[in-house]
Amino acid sequence: MKEGGGKKQEAVAPCAACKLLRRRCSRDCIFAPHFPADDPHKFASVHRVFGASNVNKLLQELLEHQRSDAVSSMVYEANARMRDPVYGCVGAISSLQQQVDVLQNQLALAQAEVVHMRLRQFPTAVSGLNSRQAASSPSSGRAINNSQHSPYYYYYYSVDMDGSLWD
Ligand SMILES: [Zn+2]
Repeated sequence: MKEGGGKKQEAVAPCAACKLLRRRCSRDCIFAPHFPADDPHKFASVHRVFGASNVNKLLQELLEHQRSDAVSSMVYEANARMRDPVYGCVGAISSLQQQVDVLQNQLALAQAEVVHMRLRQFPTAVSGLNSRQAASSPSSGRAINNSQHSPYYYYYYSVDMDGSLWD
């Protein structure tokens, strides 16, 4: 019986790279493991940005187990470069960096608030601090005159926070 499909098994379907470069895909094709035929855009973008021969050279220089990470990185960079021809993935990195900065500020504010809440919840005995001293604090705010706060509260409030949190 003849098997369906018509073509003989030795005619291997070319990988996405060989298909785009219109060359024969050999059994040991360096692109084949990373650029499957069903994802042609992956190689197209890398080829457009880096050039097939550079990708080839780079993969040759790497150990086999490093190649798929390198391909992921190149595909990411190539796509970023096509989206943003000026900054490429640096644009994405700096935008993420800004998000990190914003979130770190939010975290610092939240942590300061936690400290503030704890001190309000468990006020320690205050000695040597009266309401007049508190009122003369450089950043006296709405809760600063309350003499039940611990000395740490005033330190935290006037030195660490510089009054900006509650303004
Ligand atoms: Zn190939």
